[in-house]
Amino acid sequence: MARRPMMAANWKMNKTVREAQEYTAALLPRAADAEDDVDVVVCAPHTCLHEVGRMAGDSAVIAGAQNFYYEDSGAFTGEVSAPMLLDVGAGAVIVGHSERREVFGETDEMVARKTKRAVEADLLPIVCVGETKEERDAGGMWDKVSDQVGRVVEELEDVGGESIVFAYEPIWAIGTGDTATPEDAQDAIGKIRDLLAETKGDDFAQSVRILYGGSVKPENAAEIMAQDDIDGALVGGASLEVESFVELIGAAQNAVARTER
Ligand code: PEP
Repeated sequence: MARRPMMAANWKMNKTVREAQEYTAALLPRAADAEDDVDVVVCAPHTCLHEVGRMAGDSAVIAGAQNFYYEDSGAFTGEVSAPMLLDVGAGAVIVGHSERREVFGETDEMVARKTKRAVEADLLPIVCVGETKEERDAGGMWDKVSDQVGRVVEELEDVGGESIVFAYEPIWAIGTGDTATPEDAQDAIGKIRDLLAETKGDDFAQSVRILYGGSVKPENAAEIMAQDDIDGALVGGASLEVESFVELIGAAQNAVARTER
């Protein structure tokens, strides 16, 4: 089953509204060139999301958020809900980024509840999983990642694989310049797909997109995108400049062209 590649930008806590406007205006025509081949997602801070969503409109670019809370409204100071994200034009949301887990104490249970709520609300969750350096060095990569994935999928009933995206992001590779080798990334992502086949069935596993994240940049994107089970990337640092993000979109397009040859 051919899965449509995805290139997703995670701006993290960067960009003013003016900077977001400039970036989006420059990105839109370039992303339009790739719209037949690649889903392009821009996960902006909440303060810019309305503007990115408005500018993206019906274009090929999907506006995404970086976090939300699973209740729809109420006394949850500082939080935003799925209906609020949809209201400002978001079509996707990052869930369980390692920075949310490590800095803000998000648990596997919260990540599972957020994922379930996003799917119900028709907001595409990009669910992040990954191990620390210590866990990897101790041989515990798979224990950690399989627990994280397992916890999310046990909450999902009657859901197709196309309604969720996973991102395997080894924590030691995020923002460090230290990328997993393409083979290690493929190994982890292949195992995630196998686990999804065991727990949710082959159709689900073959239709779910699994991205790699961790210091992806134009220089290493082609090798990563060439791996069988890797359907794209979630990119922090190298997504902040339009030019390098456009190069990454190009790498995803080239990967499609190679598989069609
Ligand atoms: C991320 O923020 O999800 C990420 C992978 O960051 P970077 O590309 O900077 O490593």
